[in-house]
Amino acid sequence: MSAWEENVRRVTPYTPGDQPNRPKMIKLNTNENPYPPAPGVEKALRDFDPDCLRLYPDPGASALVNVLADYCHVKREQVFVGVGSDDVLAMAFMTFFNSEKPILFPDITYSFYPVWAEEFRIPYETPPLDEGFHIVKEDYCRDNGGVIFPNPNAPTSLALGASEVEDILRHNQDVVVIVDEAYVDFGGESVLPLVDRYDNLLVVQTFSKSRSMAGMRIGFAVGSPRLIRYLNDVKYSFNSYTMNQLTLRLGVEAVLDEAYFQETTGKIIRTREAARRRLAGLGFQSLDSRANFLFITHPEYEAKELYEALKKEDIYVRYFDAPRISRYLRVTIGTDEQMEALYGFLERYEALHRKER
Ligand code: PMP
Repeated sequence: MSAWEENVRRVTPYTPGDQPNRPKMIKLNTNENPYPPAPGVEKALRDFDPDCLRLYPDPGASALVNVLADYCHVKREQVFVGVGSDDVLAMAFMTFFNSEKPILFPDITYSFYPVWAEEFRIPYETPPLDEGFHIVKEDYCRDNGGVIFPNPNAPTSLALGASEVEDILRHNQDVVVIVDEAYVDFGGESVLPLVDRYDNLLVVQTFSKSRSMAGMRIGFAVGSPRLIRYLNDVKYSFNSYTMNQLTLRLGVEAVLDEAYFQETTGKIIRTREAARRRLAGLGFQSLDSRANFLFITHPEYEAKELYEALKKEDIYVRYFDAPRISRYLRVTIGTDEQMEALYGFLERYEALHRKER
């Protein structure tokens, strides 16, 4: 090892899902939205004047902050925006989790949390989900340096009700509690209405799932003006211009089209419920999802084998080679046509499996 390497900050990076991009493939592995962004986004893209790219963007991202504040019924000083919710969450870890005491998040959850904790040298503990993969809220009622969990949780898809989240908040008023609502628009219950009552609550959401803009990278946080000020202080001492001109313009359009948002999230919820029934008919169990994906298992199939078999057919789902969940697959909800292709393959797989036994 070279001498300089002793001073390198070494980290184990987060492993994102595969991003192959073949025209006919069925991509159900990274919880993207199968529908295009709102029509206003496409129009704004066509009308975009590149001359503005000469100038630095507004560091406060006010155009986007303003529409989000209206949308969430909060004041402008209560909104923070970033390059996807990953950026917002990373900033929040750095800003708010600065105690000697461990932060708490579930043992099975978004696998970026331990990566940020390690990177920023934040001690952490991971209370286990119960047998049915539910968050045990009593586990979060002990001394800690902060709390974070996704609601709905990923990859389990299960959600806590707002009153259960409030219970956790009530027991954690001396630390910052971050609720990662990446998937809340698919039937979860948001705790946005609680930000005015709990000045230590930060709610984080994203445009990547329900607004079909994973490729644009927009996430945001809502909290008390004080929380948001602290978050901005860290951001401005890191990189002032996180949101580029085009992102700001298209992001605004995505928020303004409420009808399109309702239509596409509604379609995904309907496809998800139909998928649960179809998959049950094929012998799969799935958890009661409030997200745009299902977490499924089959009593007879090895999840990894099925994952590989699907991949050969150019159908991508997500498999996690991790304790407790290695018999499960996470399947993003696609269009009805994409889901039909999945069921078609699973029917053939079942027939083959039966023959082999
Ligand atoms: N939180 C959770 C729970 C997620 O699953 C994801 C998606 N990988 C994110 C946050 C980050 O999404 P994005 O950065 O695209 O907003």
